[in-house]
Amino acid sequence: MDEKDMGTDLARVLVTEDEINAKLRELADQIDRDYEGRDVLLVGVLKGAVMVMADLARAMHSPVKMDWMAVSSYGSGTKSSGVVRILKDLDTDIAGRDILVVEDIIDSGLTLSWMLANLASRGPASLEVCAFFRKPEAAKVDIPVKYLGFDIPNEFVVGYGLDYAERYRNLPFVGTLAEHVYSGAKPH
Ligand code: 5GP
Ligand code: MG
Ligand code: MG
Repeated sequence: MDEKDMGTDLARVLVTEDEINAKLRELADQIDRDYEGRDVLLVGVLKGAVMVMADLARAMHSPVKMDWMAVSSYGSGTKSSGVVRILKDLDTDIAGRDILVVEDIIDSGLTLSWMLANLASRGPASLEVCAFFRKPEAAKVDIPVKYLGFDIPNEFVVGYGLDYAERYRNLPFVGTLAEHVYSGAKPH
């Protein structure tokens, strides 16, 4: 799916496919260097992190293992509350393991903050975060992000794993949607 398939749904591209690919290369090299000789487990958060997890892992040269968690954040509408329920837990016992959490986007930070506390309680040898996008203006808690893709403005974005009502995840870039998409009105 690309811009041509978007019709009039797209308002603006914030991060292009080329920028995404260059950043993946940079982060993968950094992670390769930092974890050299260690048996790192990448933990992805479903479903948004699917794209970044798959592309980052392929850009890396070290062998890695991957596992997934699915969580649901209680909250009003699109805002997360920090009260999180695990829908799918890891298959792996992470005690004593080097864990790198791979997240699509940090908005308020509440979901990831809860997840990090939960994972830390399982006694990993190390626990770090790779977040591909972050909205600094939306932060309610401070998350230590060791590997950051892009800081973006405080707007709702779609693409590269991120959805609106489960759509647009397979866009190879990240952008904002036109107003008519949200209102359900016909474009003019
Ligand atoms: P937080 O708890 O940091 O406020 O939000 C975490 C989750 O909300 C993200 O992992 C992501 O799934 C979703 N989210 C936050 N901001 C956006 C956004 O701009 N677009 C989309 N599609 N999802 C978002
Ligand atoms: Mg997420
Ligand atoms: Mg979503």
